[in-house]
Amino acid sequence: MSRLDLHLHTTHSDGSCSPTDVIERAHQAGVTTLAITDHDIMTGVPEAITAGLHRGIEVIPGLEISSSVGDSELHILGYFLDWQDEELNRRLMTLRESRHRRNPMIIERLQALGIEITYEEVRLLAGTDAVGRPHIARALMNKGVVSSAKDAFDRFLADGKPAYVPRELPTPAEAISWIKAGQGLAVLAHPTWVRVVDRSLGEMVRALKEDGLDGVEVYYSTHNPRQTREYLSLAQQLGLLATGGSDFHGLTKPDIEVGIGKGTLHVASSLLPKLKQAAGRA
Ligand code: AMP
Ligand code: FE
Ligand code: FE
Ligand code: ZN
Repeated sequence: MSRLDLHLHTTHSDGSCSPTDVIERAHQAGVTTLAITDHDIMTGVPEAITAGLHRGIEVIPGLEISSSVGDSELHILGYFLDWQDEELNRRLMTLRESRHRRNPMIIERLQALGIEITYEEVRLLAGTDAVGRPHIARALMNKGVVSSAKDAFDRFLADGKPAYVPRELPTPAEAISWIKAGQGLAVLAHPTWVRVVDRSLGEMVRALKEDGLDGVEVYYSTHNPRQTREYLSLAQQLGLLATGGSDFHGLTKPDIEVGIGKGTLHVASSLLPKLKQAAGRA
């Protein structure tokens, strides 16, 4: 059965599998087209394209940018981007710099809690410039301080926990405009994680559409059937594209597999022509 997976992380951000490993897993799952969507970086794309050629898997260059409005974080996916685009890469560099300002503060908090850890060792372990909390979680696991990434987030790293430090994030409109400037499609990631406070999800997505949003990630590893129906109908009402993906991270989210999510995810390849048409690549 031919399927898509348009949301995948690799070792180039906070995933634990290389782009080549991700392609192998996609091949096992029967995925025919995928998108590499690392956080704030696109350096994983060329390796995925090369590995994809061997397996007959089409690779869409993508990325994921975290943005914030008020207290809620919105993640914006970008697709059909030029991974060598200078302007976009400059923007992404500023996002990674904000990570390097934040992470040492998280480390200081962990140290104040009596944990022996340095940012240097986390950077070394991460092996990428897009260093995130999952890398800190992995360092804590290696030291035996926590039993899993989830344990690390639950006890220290999640919003509201003792080592949490917020990061300066762009607005959704900024994230969308950077993707559009790179001729890409901008898609709202995993609406299930969006916390809406003073308005409905529909009103928020309508506003995002005015900012240039092209689509909604309707199909997602942790969307239940009711949510999938709700987000599909929202996308249809607003004339937005429907996309889907697993958000595979390897060990950071060990229960999620490429292509099938928690086992029941199916992103139909029939969605692809509309996406390509919208991106001008029909
Ligand atoms: P950061 O980009 O440094 O703010 O870290 C956010 C990333 O951490 C997300 O994109 C997820 O990959 C991961 N993450 C967030 N919450 C959890 C959690 N509870 N368990 C495991 N990973 C998480
Ligand atoms: Fe992540
Ligand atoms: Fe996300
Ligand atoms: Zn993601």
